[in-house]
Amino acid sequence: MHVKTLILGAGLTGLSTAYHLEQRGETDYLVLECKTQPGGLCASQTVNGFTLDAGGHLLHLHTPYGKKLVKRLLKSNLLCRTRRAFVYTGSSRVPYPFQANLYALPEAERKACVNGLLEASQSPAAAPHNFKQWCLQAFGRGVYEQFMRPYNTKLWGLPPEKLTCDWCGPFVPLPKRQEVLQSAQRRLTKAYGYNRSFYYPKHGGCGALVQALAARVTHLRTRARVTQVDLKNKTVRAGGQSYSFDTLVNTLPLPAFLRLLTGEKRLSAYAKQLQNRSIRVYHLAINRAVKPFSWIYFPDKTDPFYRVGLQSGFSPYNAPEGTSLFYIELPPDAPPSKRRIWNALVQKGIIKESDKALLSRWQPLPYAYAVYDQHRSRAVRQALAALAKRGCFCAGRYGRWEYSFMESSLLEGKTLAEKLV
Ligand SMILES: Cc1cc2nc3c(=O)[nH]c(=O)nc-3n(C[C@H](O)[C@H](O)[C@H](O)COP(=O)(O)OP(=O)(O)OC[C@H]3O[C@@H](n4cnc5c(N)ncnc54)[C@H](O)[C@@H]3O)c2cc1C
Repeated sequence: MHVKTLILGAGLTGLSTAYHLEQRGETDYLVLECKTQPGGLCASQTVNGFTLDAGGHLLHLHTPYGKKLVKRLLKSNLLCRTRRAFVYTGSSRVPYPFQANLYALPEAERKACVNGLLEASQSPAAAPHNFKQWCLQAFGRGVYEQFMRPYNTKLWGLPPEKLTCDWCGPFVPLPKRQEVLQSAQRRLTKAYGYNRSFYYPKHGGCGALVQALAARVTHLRTRARVTQVDLKNKTVRAGGQSYSFDTLVNTLPLPAFLRLLTGEKRLSAYAKQLQNRSIRVYHLAINRAVKPFSWIYFPDKTDPFYRVGLQSGFSPYNAPEGTSLFYIELPPDAPPSKRRIWNALVQKGIIKESDKALLSRWQPLPYAYAVYDQHRSRAVRQALAALAKRGCFCAGRYGRWEYSFMESSLLEGKTLAEKLV
């Protein structure tokens, strides 16, 4: 089978590319997806009346087109929510972001944060070489030691000095130093960060968005796992069939895609320089409606998870009335027992020992975060340029091996479709 544009992966990026091609009258394309359903990481599952997302999947829409497209797709099936997020460390409950809410810390910790920042203000500012230096300059040693170092080590699986700082821009709220200091004295009224408020589908979880998009994509083949890519002969093997193409769009995780290439030893070798962080999600539902919150960060080593979110808080339709549904995100190491997770949640006051579990389910996410170590930026740049020369364009968080939002997937799909047409 021959198509003009062959798109690998029917997650948000692949679907957006196909949708925007079709919007421009281009129908000579095909999307190949290995799973039985499209959606990738944005797909939701419904189990016994509970709607499960692959960890927290909230819509952060920052561009007029992103908003317009999502509203066009979801129509009235869209809620707007205000963030209620916290950091639990030791026995403190600090509103998020930690660095703008120091007033909530015990006196000794608060002093350490203030002193750390005052010291940092006196050091000459040099361009930071890694995430540790970036944090020390921006927030000082106290905030770094109490939150930034332990939390990010848990999330990325690497200490901050091994991470670069080219990902932090949109993701790490950066109050002015003066504001960090003021926050040690009083609660600030200003809200920080890209996720102060967010959108979320009323019905169907995050998956409602990919379903709405998939319904507008005509040429999609599921159960078609790509096993080989030959860029010289412009062919792909998937689900036991061969497909030829003029242009290839890749949205599969870049290291996995590079390993599928045949006869491209130099290109495939870039895969070794791209580090991946997988995670585990544990879904837990209980028989009681808990006090609403959005999500909580857990930097302490003693807690088995690094983030817990209240899925039933994003939409009341995510869980039957009078129940609560949590998503619990954990590092990929050996999974703790369900009992240990339960005990930790009880100890943190999120659930009560007397609560009853109505559902519990593990969901491993083999590709979750592209690790921004010292090799990533150069390897990605060179690999993407070499692929583009061979008529293969990569898009999306995993295709471009970047840390980005769902909105970027939608926009990258649009930009790519415009380029191809
Ligand atoms: C834990 C977590 C929380 C997140 N939270 C948010 C959030 O709150 N807000 C936000 O904006 N973004 C969030 N994201 C990011 C968001 O998930 C991604 O930006 C988005 O899903 C990327 O879509 P994609 O299509 O590029 O990739 P994917 O969704 O990974 O799609 C790739 C597709 O390729 C398919 N595939 C893989 N291998 C093959 C193969 N060999 N053959 C055929 N098909 C294949 C997969 O099955 C999948 O369908 C989060 C990500 C994670 C991991």
